[in-house]
Amino acid sequence: MKLSIIVPCYNEQEALPFFYDEFRKALSHSVFDYELIFVNDGSTDETLSCIKELAKRDENVKYLSFSRNFGKEAAMYAGFCNADGEYVGVMDADMQDPPALIPEMLEILCSGEYDCVATRRVSRKGEPPIRSFFARIFYRIINKISDANVVDGARDFRIMRREMADAVVAMAENNRFSKGIFGWVGFRTKWIPFENTERIAGKTKWSFWGLLSYALDGIINFSEMPLNIASWFGLVMTAVSFFFLMVIVIRKLCFGDPVAGWASTISIMLFIGGIQLFCMGVMGQYIAKIYGESKKRPHYIISETNKSNAERIR
Ligand code: UDP
Ligand code: MG
Repeated sequence: MKLSIIVPCYNEQEALPFFYDEFRKALSHSVFDYELIFVNDGSTDETLSCIKELAKRDENVKYLSFSRNFGKEAAMYAGFCNADGEYVGVMDADMQDPPALIPEMLEILCSGEYDCVATRRVSRKGEPPIRSFFARIFYRIINKISDANVVDGARDFRIMRREMADAVVAMAENNRFSKGIFGWVGFRTKWIPFENTERIAGKTKWSFWGLLSYALDGIINFSEMPLNIASWFGLVMTAVSFFFLMVIVIRKLCFGDPVAGWASTISIMLFIGGIQLFCMGVMGQYIAKIYGESKKRPHYIISETNKSNAERIR
């Protein structure tokens, strides 16, 4: 049986040799054939030549090299589209996803009880507290308001059966949020907890703002709740203002009140104006997504590969 492991790499020249050695060690007692698909996501360092070096030594090492940086999501998708093992897995190159867990994961899959074995980190050690705080809030919100069950601390590190990998490939949306996609397709998933480790070399590519906008994308991609909230806001405001209109008309008719309260009028106008702009902004976010999807641009463009049957553009 064959295992395909997809490894998105963006400027990982320092980490790759360590990763490859650990991976080989982890699979040394395994009966599985493997293919290690490195997806070079437009690295600007020596990542590609490093991968080619590995490919020269080991024919199970495959690479797909993008024409520019398309992002980790696109890199994973390219891997899924081109993996041909009965089991397909994804892991990072920086050793934050320990290869040593792979034999245990394969054993669970082979028992036939589960379709997918996924990992989640139990601690957020070595992470800025403010980031952990926002991460917690994000998981709480997205699980409340979307169909996709997103587990707190879930990593993209997972191995799944062919059936599930095909389902992931079928989710061909341009705005990809893998944690949501894996949750959305369903299947029986076993979660393995492990201790968070720091990356072995190089730097993380995520800034705080990058993560925040990724989180908002995740919510917009997997939930219509913000739109619903906007409409409910509108409805409630209409009801409230109608009530006050009645009060004012009746008061005028009965008591003939003179005009007063310029300040309160302006505040109310500003308040409502603010809510309107906010709701339009929410709508705009969804329209932007529709715009992006409707262009049907390819997810990735491969400029170089050693896989003979690779889909170079998809
Ligand atoms: N990555 C990628 N394209 C990008 C950014 C990251 O392929 O544009 C890869 C990166 O090489 C690594 C994985 O995605 O293998 C996770 O990246 P990183 O370690 O920076 O994220 P973190 O572990 O901090 O969430
Ligand atoms: Mg990392």
